[in-house]
Amino acid sequence: MRVKLKVTGIVQGVGFRPFIYRMAVRNGLAGYVRNRGDAGVEVLLEGEEERIQSFMRDLIEKKPPLAQIEKINHIELSGKNEYQHFIIFQSSQEAETSGSIIPPDIAICNQCLKELRDPKDPRFEYFFITCTDCGPRFTIIERLPYDRENTTMREFPLCGFCQKEYEDPSNRRFHAQTVACPTCGPKAYLTTNMGELVQTKDPMRMAGKLLSEGNIFAVKGYGGFHIASSTVLEQPLLRLRTTKHRQEKPFAIMAKSLQAAETFAEVGLREREILTSSARPIVLLNKSPTYNLSPIVAPHLHNVGVMLPYTGLHYMLFDQVADTAFVMTSANPANQPIVKDNKAALKILGGSVDYFLFHNREIAQRCDDSVMRVHGNRQVFLRRSRGFAPAPIRLKQKSKRCVVGLGGELNNTSCVLLEDKAFISQHIGDVENIETRSFLQEATSHLQRLTNCQAETVACDLHPKFNTTLLAKEMAQTDGLGLVQVQHHHAHAAALMAEHGLDDVVAVVCDGYGYGSEGGAWGGEILHCNLESTEFTRLGHLEAQPLLGGDLASRYPMRLVAGMLQKAGVNVEDWLIQNSEHLPYGEIEAKLILQQLKVGKGTVETTSCGRFLDAIAAVLGVCFERSYEGEPAMKLESIALAGKDILEIQPQLKGDILDTSRLMRLVFDNLGRVSAADLAYSAHAYLAKGLAAMAIQGANAKNIKNLGFSGGAAGNQILAQLIREIVEAAGLRFFVHEAVPAGDGGVSFGQAVVAGFSKL
Ligand SMILES: [Zn+2]
Ligand SMILES: [Zn+2]
Ligand SMILES: [Zn+2]
Repeated sequence: MRVKLKVTGIVQGVGFRPFIYRMAVRNGLAGYVRNRGDAGVEVLLEGEEERIQSFMRDLIEKKPPLAQIEKINHIELSGKNEYQHFIIFQSSQEAETSGSIIPPDIAICNQCLKELRDPKDPRFEYFFITCTDCGPRFTIIERLPYDRENTTMREFPLCGFCQKEYEDPSNRRFHAQTVACPTCGPKAYLTTNMGELVQTKDPMRMAGKLLSEGNIFAVKGYGGFHIASSTVLEQPLLRLRTTKHRQEKPFAIMAKSLQAAETFAEVGLREREILTSSARPIVLLNKSPTYNLSPIVAPHLHNVGVMLPYTGLHYMLFDQVADTAFVMTSANPANQPIVKDNKAALKILGGSVDYFLFHNREIAQRCDDSVMRVHGNRQVFLRRSRGFAPAPIRLKQKSKRCVVGLGGELNNTSCVLLEDKAFISQHIGDVENIETRSFLQEATSHLQRLTNCQAETVACDLHPKFNTTLLAKEMAQTDGLGLVQVQHHHAHAAALMAEHGLDDVVAVVCDGYGYGSEGGAWGGEILHCNLESTEFTRLGHLEAQPLLGGDLASRYPMRLVAGMLQKAGVNVEDWLIQNSEHLPYGEIEAKLILQQLKVGKGTVETTSCGRFLDAIAAVLGVCFERSYEGEPAMKLESIALAGKDILEIQPQLKGDILDTSRLMRLVFDNLGRVSAADLAYSAHAYLAKGLAAMAIQGANAKNIKNLGFSGGAAGNQILAQLIREIVEAAGLRFFVHEAVPAGDGGVSFGQAVVAGFSKL
């Protein structure tokens, strides 16, 4: 019997071909296996029918841990048997292009971890131990096909021992492009902040000890450098805050182990699964009552971002110290991409660290850690990067054209949409300057090369001045591409539709800022969208509130409060003067604001949900300055989690507008009478009830059964939970993001979807 199989899914770069080989040999079959250009694997089997059936069972039951089989296409062939043995065809250039799937970086597997600890193993205590089941992928690949000479491992020719394993189909390291050992592989070393070598036989453990004693390190990882420090000593943490100019922004930490994490944080079942998954993202965990790390790690927040070690190097850092966790935050100067090269690290980071823990393997692609949290039992992406990028999001339908989406401005990514696959780049950051713009360009071209995407259309934001819009227009002109500009919140809703295979949706889209259809500042929107249309209908929105001083109001939310209170009919003068210490220029500034309020002209307005929550945070005294993206709203959520809906205000709808002045007024009137936690929760509840009511009304009027929640505010647990309860009680289907970020990291995907699926 002769059978040809086509297996699709994640089956390349995950040890799938050697697995097929082993199963074929085990079942006494001849034939071949090879990678196909469309990211699948082709298998020809020759042998008795029973043996082929047994092979098919093995294929499903014994597949390698990282492989994901989506479909097996099975054709019986006529003709005579041709093969004596079973062989693995090498990947050819032709076979690996066009929409090929590049695996993301994968955390050290259990078998490698065992070998790392085994004194009899040749890779005992080797920091860069990897195999076909684990190790860096995306961050070392320069071009396709994925062979060693096309990766930054090319600098390390295999020794005899590694070569033997590499060539042995029965070995776990057969064709593992990252295979290396202490003899032939990359080396780690410790230097001072000036780059002078510190003599030690054991750089990892030495670094661990120095960290534990209060030194600050730059540690080179897979996708770039981390800044590391103690999580319990005040002195290095305060130094870090000063040198990183991060007064309050929480630091991500790496815990020694799951057990260690449980000593200071609450780890639920779902969180445990995500923490220990091969992607090893940072997971936001609630601080536990026994939280014993310094409050400086994540100030005024109920949670802390924790990840587990994902390389041999990371594990070894903890070997000889009592610390349960170290700070492990991306090493990037303000508004710059993460540092990835040794030379640049010395220059840029030398002034703010005491030591470097380097290794001599180059990083081809920089890649920040991913960040997730769990709502109920659902995973929520706050940042989708290492461990996920550039694995594609699979869509239900095929795109009408190949599109590149360049995203918005903050927390940006780019996206290549090719047929039914959307490849979202790693985290790029805020595209506000030349460095991040270059990074966006590089990452996007690289993604296009990897996927062999010949884009016909480039999609971008509606904002005329965004760097990404200007870049898209340049690309459209120089490469003769079609240009599609997509309204920011429409992109969010489109991302939601595509992720869930919906044809239409009524979406609640809430975030900080997006350029509206007529140029207004939007951010609390109810939109009706259809997958096949570049148009959408704005069914409703939050009441527009004054942004006194424009960008200043976004930074100092006391300005928002002043404007909103006056609009709500409160005489703000006494209150503002009394609270003027919370403005950067105190009473002088307060008087200027009052004057502006009297004139009342020329103030920009916004329907932003984020700005409204910022204002509530300020009026409650929770946060007076937004020193990092989302800060007031995050701190507000932290205190609201301890509260309840004590005010029980019924939402006031004026046509298609949710009245927020009334809410602000009621919160203000109850200051001091009702706890800040209850007021914070009541404000969330009001917004959730009002937004849900408007969306349900819109969905019913248009007879649409799908209702969704997107935008950065969908990462807010209270809003997401309350809106879900109301929508489901109304008998509608409720959708949130699970595969892409709800925030602006998902915008490039949404833009590409609008440009790819609509009838242009
Ligand atoms: Zn491994
Ligand atoms: Zn070797
Ligand atoms: Zn947004």
